[in-house]
Order: sequence, then C-alpha cells, then structure tokens
Amino acid sequence: MSASVINNDDVSNTLREVFGFSDFLPNQEAVVKNILSQKDTVAIMPTGGGKSLCYQLPARILPGTCLVISPLIALMKDQVDAAQANGLRAAFLNSSLSASMKRRVEADLLSARLDLLYVSPERFAMPEFIERLKQIKMAFVAIDEAHCISEWGHDFRPDYLNLSTIGRDFPEVPVAAFTATATHRVQEDIVTRLGLRNPHIIRASFNRPNLFYKVVPKSRPSEQILKFVSARRGEAGIIYRTTRKSVEQTAELLSRHGIRALPYHAGLDDAQRIRNQEAFNRDDIQVIVATIAFGMGIDKSNVRYVLHGDLPKNVEGYYQETGRAGRDGEPAQCLLLFGYGDIPKLRFFIDQMPDEAEQRQALRCLNNMINYASVYACRRKQLLNYFGEELESIAKSSTLCCDVCSGQVDRIEATVDAQIAMSAIARTGQRFGITHVVAVICGEDTPRIQTLGHDRLKTYGAGRDKDRRHWRMVIDNLLSQGLIEQSKGEYPVLTLAADAKDVLFNSRPFYMLKSEVLSIPARRGKGRGTQGRTGATDILDYDEALFEKLRVLRKKLAGEQGVPPYVIFSDRSLHEMARDCPTNAAELLNISGVGAAKLTRYGKAFLDVINSK
Ligand code: ADP
Repeated sequence: MSASVINNDDVSNTLREVFGFSDFLPNQEAVVKNILSQKDTVAIMPTGGGKSLCYQLPARILPGTCLVISPLIALMKDQVDAAQANGLRAAFLNSSLSASMKRRVEADLLSARLDLLYVSPERFAMPEFIERLKQIKMAFVAIDEAHCISEWGHDFRPDYLNLSTIGRDFPEVPVAAFTATATHRVQEDIVTRLGLRNPHIIRASFNRPNLFYKVVPKSRPSEQILKFVSARRGEAGIIYRTTRKSVEQTAELLSRHGIRALPYHAGLDDAQRIRNQEAFNRDDIQVIVATIAFGMGIDKSNVRYVLHGDLPKNVEGYYQETGRAGRDGEPAQCLLLFGYGDIPKLRFFIDQMPDEAEQRQALRCLNNMINYASVYACRRKQLLNYFGEELESIAKSSTLCCDVCSGQVDRIEATVDAQIAMSAIARTGQRFGITHVVAVICGEDTPRIQTLGHDRLKTYGAGRDKDRRHWRMVIDNLLSQGLIEQSKGEYPVLTLAADAKDVLFNSRPFYMLKSEVLSIPARRGKGRGTQGRTGATDILDYDEALFEKLRVLRKKLAGEQGVPPYVIFSDRSLHEMARDCPTNAAELLNISGVGAAKLTRYGKAFLDVINSK
C-alpha cells in the first residue's frame, strides 16, 4: 500500500479495530496523518498524550518496518508487549537478548515480518546494524524522548548524538521525533541535530485536565504522607523525596503500616532498582518512593497520585514528575507538601555551584517553584503559563482543577494592600522594577528615591506597617493573578494590566494565601475529604466491587503472561467495563481500549467476570 491510497477510513478503522479507540486524543490525528504522508515530524505532547499510538498506528498501516528508538532498555520489553497485545508484529533488539533470540529478530526483520522494531540509540554507532537496515524497507523512524539529543534538555544523553547520521544514511526515510519536553530551545535542537527536513511541528497543549493539583503546608511529613496513602489503599502512587535517607524511611514507614512500598534511588544497585521498578510496574507493590532519579520513561498508565514530600528544584521537573500520574486519562492527584524550611537546603546546593550564571538560573527556577506554591492563583494556570500557554477558559470555568479554584485553601482578603501596591506602580509612572516599588511603599530613604522625588508621592510610605517580604508577596500575587505585568529583559519593570482597575476602583476583592498557613502546622482534622477523588473532570460512576474483581483478573492474567497489568487493559478500560457492564463481545468492543486482538485474547475472561457479578 502506498501512502497516497491510504484514506481516512483506513485510519479510523485501524484506530477502532486494532487499538479499540473510537476517537483520537488531541493532536494524535495530525501526527498520524503527517507520518502517513511521509513527512518529517516533531510531536511535542505531554506525558499521557498518547504518543505511542502516533507511530504504532502508521506502523501498522504503512508497508515496511517502523524503527523505534527508545532510550531505556528496561522499558523496551513492556513497549513490545503492549504493541503485541494489540496484535502488532513487534520486537526489540538490545544487549539483553540471547544470541539465538537476536538471530530470530534479525531474520524477522530481513523477511519483512515486523511492523515495529525497538532499538536503543547506541545501535546507530554500529556499522553492521546500519548495513542491515539498508537491506530492508523502513517505513519511517520514530524517535522517542527526542529531547535527550539536546544539551538544553534536562535529560541529555550523548548516545542520542549517534542519531544525527540518520538523514545521511537513510535520506528517503521520514523521521518522527517525539518528546514531552516543552521549551522552544530544545525543539530547535531536535530539528537541527536530527537534520530534519522542513518538519511539521505539532505542539500539543500541556494541560492535563484529569490531574488535580494541591499544595498543603508541610508540618509532619511522615504523618501527612501516611495519611494520604492510607486513604488510597490499592491505588498506585509515586512519592518523591529528595534524599536517599528520606526515601528509605518513607518506604519503611509505609511498609510498617501494611502498605506495599519499595524505595528507588541511585544508592541501590542496578539489579535491585530494576526489581523494585518492575514490582511497581506490575502492581506487585502499591507505592514507589523515589528520589528524582526515578523517572524518565515510566510507562505505567494507572498511577493515581504523585506526592512530593519536599520542595522540587524547578517547575519543569515538577511538571514532568506530576505528569506521571493519570496517563490513562483517569482522575489523579498531585500533592505537594510545601514548607519554607526546605528552601535553605536547596539554596545550599545552589550556593555550591561553581558557575555564577548557572547559580542565577537555578535561583530563578527555585523562585518560580516557590511562587507556584505560595501565591493565591490557579495552580494549573501557573504551570501552563510557565510553558508559555494561556488557560483563561478552564481557569475561569472550572472549580475542580486545583485546591485554589475549588476553595480548599485558607485565604485572606488583601484588597487594600493590592491597591497600595498598584497605586505605587501607577504613580511612579509604570517605569520601575519590584525593588524600587517596594522601597517606595515602605517609605525607604534611598538616594534614588530622593533624586526621583518619589518621597513626595501619595503612596510613599503607605505600607510602612508591614515588611518588605510582605510587599514582595503582594506583588508576586498580583503578577500571578494577572493584575500587573512584568516586562522581559535585564531591567524588568512593572505595569498595570487591564484588569487592575477592577481592584483599584471597582471593589473587586483581592486575595492571598494566608501566610501562616504555609509556615505553621496545619490544623488537625483539616484536609480530610478534600484529598479524596475530587478534582476529576470526568469521574466515572462505576461499580467499585466489579472494578476490583476485574482488577484481580487483570493482575492474574498479567502474572501468567509476564507483562505489566496495564498492557492488558488500562484503568480506564476497567472503569468503563465496571460502569457499562458489557455482556457480549460486541458490547465489549465499545469499551475504550478494546480492539480485535484484545477481544480475542481476553474478551471471554473479562465477560465471564462481568456476567457473573
Ligand atoms: P505517552 O507516551 O504520550 O505518555 P501513551 O502512549 O503511554 O502516552 O498513552 C497514554 C494512555 O492513553 C495509554 O493508556 C493509552 O492506551 C491511552 N490512549 C492512547 N491513545 C488513545 C485514544 N485515542 N483514546 C483513548 N486512549 C488512548
């Protein structure tokens, strides 16, 4: 079949019959069609955006083999299992294979019996591998985690540089690069280093509507973590802690309370780390407690929460880590325990950095993270703004996207303070930065204030009764709430935004988080119920007992076949089964994620459970 005869029906039939999905997720269709029309593509989609389908579907339709470059050997088997479960002809080649297995895969490759072949980037440094590829028909090359090729990304891997020869060795073969990293700088690097030819760039929204973001004051972290996890028995979760010691202690604490939890950090030997990760992947344990070393490429789709027990270093990392929750699109929680006590530790590490520019950058990142946790503004909106995206519609219409929007935080009204700060900005001509504006409000006696005559302004000293830290906080809140703006460049100045007048003249109230809330222990008994299954944009009303039975069956089948449970069916598929209770094969096919291959393989077993409920 050539690309020109592929029509929309082929695409939607394959989506439905092979993958069992009735619709594409946002941007999937554009990526698939671009690959099918043999063009180079860069797809930047958040975790859970459904990147695998973007190359698996064309791989199934196009003649020839799709070569998938994937960075983690440990994950290749799971990816191949998942593709095979949908009936695709998939295999991997890496150093973990025995010589005879390797020969078998190569024979399949050479005789055109593979839709997908997964390899690691190191293979591209092997001339004999390149020669072999030249003997086959390659449909296209898909590069997963493509940001690893950029030194500006946070996961740079020198072996990805091997991939820059693809264009030279295979000039006729289209390349599709996939990543969940957002910055434009990394995007440019991907295009130039891979030598992509006029690629179509698809940037999906980074909004993850099924994630609920919440920040609570960190008081007694062990107790808080235990309480949070205990309220979610049976749900898979990731807990991040910054030190190995706290990782070990947290995992032990949970285990002592009957929660199956294991640690994961760089101090464990490789074999142990892999075992612990596998146990998590396969639902043998419920919780993995990890330092940030635990991360890239976790494919487990049914992680129901990500809890940060300590303040992360930057928003980018925080977003990536929380992104591992709810990849199946089902409701999931992201909880951050935030205490000012974490800041000096992070500052200490930054102070050790030898390079001054690097230090400044790290400090800016940390300040953004602190800002995220400490201002009264929609968390989701803040995260998206950080990646250059606006989210007016959701932020205004939804009360279920974060603790701030849904009124789960303690706030104080500070309208008069907002008026003082904004009037200081206005009266100084909207030409000054934060430091000067705060100095004017606090009535400081600086030479600059004297020279400019700002001590004669009406707002000079209007905020003497409170300290500089308070006024900085007011300004941070005004910025985050979009009431004032800060210019870019070396000397950023503050200006009033269009909505400022509502607070200045029309008595729109202005709120901030109650600062004590962030520095003193939370009141006992608070928060219960707010950490439940709230925050979902589409909570499914399903039969929980049936869901449990289906989950047990999934676990049993996964154990028998040596694959992770989510490879069999995602949580979403099970939730839908437990809601719609399909009684026959035709009805089961209407469940999201049930395609022809899975129906044949697992249909009967699941229908038996449903019909015997
Ligand atoms: P990513 O690699 O972008 O993080 P995955 O490829 O792992 O995302 O997909 C995330 C989840 O979304 C998986 O459970 C997958 O089965 C599901 N998914 C993918 N495409 C669709 C679709 N069109 N409709 C519904 N669910 C989908």
